Order: sequence, then structure tokens, then C-alpha cells
Amino acid sequence: MARLNFLNVSIDNLTTTELLEQLKQGGAVYTPNVSHLLRLQWDKDFYDLYQDAEFSICDSQILWYASRLIGTPIREKISGSDLFPAFYNYYRNDEDVTVFLLGAAEGVGEQAKQNINNQVKRNMVLDTYSPSYGFEADTEECEQIIERINRSKATTLAVGLGAPKQEKWIHANRHRLVHVKVFLAIGATIDFEAGQVQRSPKWMSKVGLEWAHRILMEPGRLGKRYFNDFLPFLWLVLSELLGLYQNPFVENQTCVTAELSNMA
Ligand code: UDP
Repeated sequence: MARLNFLNVSIDNLTTTELLEQLKQGGAVYTPNVSHLLRLQWDKDFYDLYQDAEFSICDSQILWYASRLIGTPIREKISGSDLFPAFYNYYRNDEDVTVFLLGAAEGVGEQAKQNINNQVKRNMVLDTYSPSYGFEADTEECEQIIERINRSKATTLAVGLGAPKQEKWIHANRHRLVHVKVFLAIGATIDFEAGQVQRSPKWMSKVGLEWAHRILMEPGRLGKRYFNDFLPFLWLVLSELLGLYQNPFVENQTCVTAELSNMA
């Protein structure tokens, strides 16, 4: 099955290699995790833009386990932080693929750029920009960013602003980015690529404990986030298992089904 529904998000049931191959055609990649899934229950704008993404992949091992429990097994967890290095390594010899990094604190993007370009042994990352706090509401800064990305002629835009800011920014501006074919929403990946924040050991990520490592790294910000997400997520999974789950943005699901069957 190429696309499966998990609560009210569709997930492309692809392996990393299949996804990298399909990205030759371009598209935006969003990486749903537990936080995204919770937001998708109440943030209509976020829900709507998710419907327009060409690719939506499973970022979280917890989601991967839950998909098995629910009976819609996702083949592979592909977190944004794994996808991005896989992407630049896969396309390292394809001179048509170039990257712009948008996000992270001042200087971090530049460090990530150097690290990546050293690794792939070419000038693959062309430019970076660290936006100011609250930039998304500043039309002038957004215009400057668009102009800078267009000037760079980069064909891939990797946006690390955290959710939902990064997805909303991509959705609102992608049509104005004339050279960009691939849009990657990658959260804290620019920090990882710069060596600014340490990623969890592979074994922790594999068994679904990456969140624990991230809490240790940033206890104040992320401890609260994960703690607040835990019970509501458990409830969502339980309601799906009990057949009680209703997509809040699809009204009268049973009526629509009834009307369709009347028309048949
Ligand atoms: N960030 C940013 N500008 C903002 C908000 C966040 O550049 O206005 C960056 C921040 O520096 C960090 C990343 O976005 O690099 C935060 O990612 P987060 O940990 O929230 O993402 P996750 O990986 O959990 O989706």
C-alpha cells in the first residue's frame, strides 16, 4: 500500500530509498510525529496544508509502533533528521541538486553548510539564512528571504523552524520560489548537522527512545512538550482501536458515505 491513513493523517508508506528516488520529481516532504498528529486534531490550517503535501512520512518510532497496534503498519520510520543526510548523500554527485538551509540560530546554518559541503566534497549547500524571532509575521523579512532563496538558485529548500512554522512557511511561499523543486521540513536537523545539538545514539532512536534523549538535551523546552503530548496521544490511539475516532475536519462522515452509496 503506497499511502495509508493513520488517524487523520495520510502517510506515504515508502522506504527511504523509494522516497529519495521519487523526490527526483520534486515535492514537499512533511514528517508527522506525535506532536503533529495532536495538532492535526484542532489546527485546521495545519490540517489543510497537510492535504497538499506531496509526501508525508513517519518521523516517529512511537507512531510506527502505534500504526502496528492499530493494524495499518508503516514500513519504515523515516525521521526528517535521517532523511536530510540521506538526501544529500544520495544526490551528492548530481550537480543539479543544490540546497538552501532556512532556520536555526545565527551561525548554526553556516556551520551546517560547511560540514555538509565538506562531506559531499562540493558546494552543494549554496546559502543559509537564520531568521529573526517572529519573522513569519514580518512581511519585509519574508520578502527578503524569498529573494535570497531565488538568488541562490538552490533547487532544494530545507526548512528547520519547528512545526507548524516550517510547514506553514513552505505552504505560503513555495509558489514564489522559482528554482526550488524539493521542500523538506526538517525541524532541528540543521542544529544536528552543525554539531550544535547531539542526536540520540542509533539504538535509542531504533527502540523509540529518541524523545528521551532530546529531553535530556533540552529539558526545559522539550520536557513540557513530550509530557503534554503523552496522554492525549494515548487517548487518540485508544479511540481509534475502539472504533470511536472521528476526523474533526470531516463533518457528517456517515452522511457523506450514505449519499455516495445512494448515488451509486
Ligand atoms: N527555529 C528557528 N526560528 C524560529 C523557531 C525555531 O530557526 O522562529 C529553529 C530552532 O533554532 C531549532 C528548530 O527550529 O533549530 C526547532 O526545531 P524543533 O526542535 O522544534 O523541531 P522538531 O525537530 O522537534 O520538529
